[in-house]
Amino acid sequence: MIHRIPFDRVNWTSSLFLTITFFTAVIGTPIYFIKFGVDPFLIAMAVVYFILTGMSITLGYHRLFAHRAFKAKAPVKLGTLIFGACAFEDSALDWSSDHRQHHKHVDQEEDPYDISKGFFWAHMGWIFFKLYPRPLANVADLKKDPLVMWQHRWHRQIGMLAGIVLPTLIGLFWSGPVGALGGFLIAGVARVVAVQHCTFLINSLCHTMGRRPYDSRTSARDSFLMAIFTFGEGYHNYHHSFQHDYRNGVKVWQWDPTKWAIWIFSKLGLASELRRVPDEKILLAELRETQRQAELKLAALEASRATGAAETAAWDAAWEKIQQMADQVGKNYADLEAAATEGVRVSRKVLARWKAEATEYLENLTALDELQPQPA
Ligand SMILES: [Zn+2]
Ligand SMILES: [Zn+2]
Repeated sequence: MIHRIPFDRVNWTSSLFLTITFFTAVIGTPIYFIKFGVDPFLIAMAVVYFILTGMSITLGYHRLFAHRAFKAKAPVKLGTLIFGACAFEDSALDWSSDHRQHHKHVDQEEDPYDISKGFFWAHMGWIFFKLYPRPLANVADLKKDPLVMWQHRWHRQIGMLAGIVLPTLIGLFWSGPVGALGGFLIAGVARVVAVQHCTFLINSLCHTMGRRPYDSRTSARDSFLMAIFTFGEGYHNYHHSFQHDYRNGVKVWQWDPTKWAIWIFSKLGLASELRRVPDEKILLAELRETQRQAELKLAALEASRATGAAETAAWDAAWEKIQQMADQVGKNYADLEAAATEGVRVSRKVLARWKAEATEYLENLTALDELQPQPA
């Protein structure tokens, strides 16, 4: 409702920036292509810029600065701070402060991009009302880093120079004024808009679409599709369960280029102390979630048993099997919990078996539900 918008608290600079860049990209880029054609060099420059700036947000702003999931040498810090500024998502210090607040108070009033306030609010609406100076009380560690503080002071100028002026100049040297306009529009403005909306998806769609294998009590979700658009940040249910892990896509088959880049940096001696949650703790979270889902299904099944709706022989046999499986999964959970608490390593083979038994248990519960005679 228009009269409910608190116009006195609107951040006009951010709002105008988001709106003008969006419409310039959406309207200006197609007109440019129609008028001057598609130059593969400019497209390649935009793609390189998109990857560098996008991954500076995911690898630098997010996993390195906000979560301290690994330690990085100065070239990685400086590179991600410079190209992160080119995404125009505030300084790394500001961004990390908001993000730590998001993890601490997820889905609550204090969460800056609380999804319960609606999809648009979580995606970008909150930025329209983000006023400065911010409290920045939860980033005392980052305030001690001179590089972070240098970027905090100059991020707008760095972003303009490296993110807009530089691609314009490269375009100019490549093919004169038409190239300059292309560099500005495609690698500059359109690329900023694309990177921004891809990272905004982490706060909107990654809290709306996908599975919750680790914890269904949070709105954060795991989605392969979202991982494609976010350099691997789409495994957001895992991330909210284990925020200090340098991996978001923790399984070997999951798409997480940010994780791969951190791993490559570590092999080159540019990153160290990569934080990994032990496999036992990860499976423990998955089994805990299985138990949660099973309890819900069991409660529903018990209710229908109490009314005598389900009394076929097949149902009774299946019910018997479920009881045995529940005991087995309960025992596995207790063993795993003890191992995780004492730091005892469990072999991959055993972990895989326990995971398979939990999956089978849930599948059998679902099948049992379907076996119930439906009321006429
Ligand atoms: Zn989140
Ligand atoms: Zn995070």
